[in-house]
Amino acid sequence: MSGLTVPNAIDALWVNVNLATMTDAAPYGAVEDGALVVAGGKIAWVGERSALPSEMESRAARVWDGEGGWITPGLVDCHTHLVYAGTRAREFELRLQGATYEEIARQGGGILSTVSATRQADEEELLRQSTQRLLSLLDQGVTTLEIKSGYGLERDTELRMLRVARRLAEAFPVTVCATFLGAHALPREFEGRADDYIAFLCNDLIPEVAAQGLAEAVDAFCDTIGFTPDQTERVFQAAKRHGLRVKLHAEQLSDQGGAALAAKYGALSVDHLEHLSDAGVQVIAESGTVAVLLPGAYYFLGETKHPPVASLRRAGVPMAVATDCNPGTSPAVSLLLMLNMACTLFRLTPEEALAGVTRHGARALGLHDRIGTLEAGKDADFVVWAISEPAELAYALGANPCRHVVRHGQVVRSGHKTRPMGDSKH
Ligand SMILES: [Zn+2]
Repeated sequence: MSGLTVPNAIDALWVNVNLATMTDAAPYGAVEDGALVVAGGKIAWVGERSALPSEMESRAARVWDGEGGWITPGLVDCHTHLVYAGTRAREFELRLQGATYEEIARQGGGILSTVSATRQADEEELLRQSTQRLLSLLDQGVTTLEIKSGYGLERDTELRMLRVARRLAEAFPVTVCATFLGAHALPREFEGRADDYIAFLCNDLIPEVAAQGLAEAVDAFCDTIGFTPDQTERVFQAAKRHGLRVKLHAEQLSDQGGAALAAKYGALSVDHLEHLSDAGVQVIAESGTVAVLLPGAYYFLGETKHPPVASLRRAGVPMAVATDCNPGTSPAVSLLLMLNMACTLFRLTPEEALAGVTRHGARALGLHDRIGTLEAGKDADFVVWAISEPAELAYALGANPCRHVVRHGQVVRSGHKTRPMGDSKH
């Protein structure tokens, strides 16, 4: 093949496998009987096995047998609140006895009960509890995830949550994008003084988070039980001043015009969107912002209003899918289950759902140049699945056909065990 540079050291060659490259060549960017070459933690070559350059094969230090399964890009969970303490099983029980999410929140339950448990947990305890949830995600092929703060609502706990997110990335084979979500709820200490709390976030905490390099982005909860569009805009302005990207919990319970506001600030993503208007769809379509769909929260809250998937699809808005892993409204630790729910509840196709946790999930984190598809030059983050067609990933309920997880070229999981970092010899 002319013009092809073959690296001197080829770490691994994967064969006897089909590839769902998830490039926009439909369906699934699929290549049957493919080959994938890893060098220096990157994908060096990907394509049909019959086209594999012979030097690639002869120089490979190790050949892996995909056993006739499928390789997809490593999964991306682009919206989680994975770091917190305690559970809200009691609130779940109350809700089933008739209380609504909004009533529980107004009574000082909901988010504030997790705030109280998280403030009391020291860094080690927070790390320990969060690790359990992270392992569930990793065991199902997640190689990149986003983690938000937002259960401290005061300086020390917010910074502690973000430090735990960084420590998880050091301890486990996963890329973590940390997001500062101080504007998640109003803490009791600021009751009746929401503007003062927003001023504290903008003038004190956002500058400190940025200076310590603890987050890549800033998020807010813009809704009737969250913050107003005006307060949200002040948070966005502070984020911009300190070089942080923005994203927004928008239009979950009502239409506040939050998605359009976020798009104006070049948001990476707008998330939830059940109440997004057609006008809002047009604005985010023009800005290139990703729509993140969170079927776990929709399901768990027993909502009935769908996000406007047909309008988003028509407008060409990239749709990501995520767990929204959080104790109150989506205690989900399975991204594969979210694929199924995105299809059954929101009527995404299995291909759209898979793109939502690969290509579009990567874009929602601003990482689409590095991950999200199987293409030469990208990070060698991928999953080998024991499936006979890609739609099986969205079809099965509660299955985990993950056979190997590869991150930066290294096999970090095989069978049923994720290895912590530093134990990835093979
Ligand atoms: Zn959320």
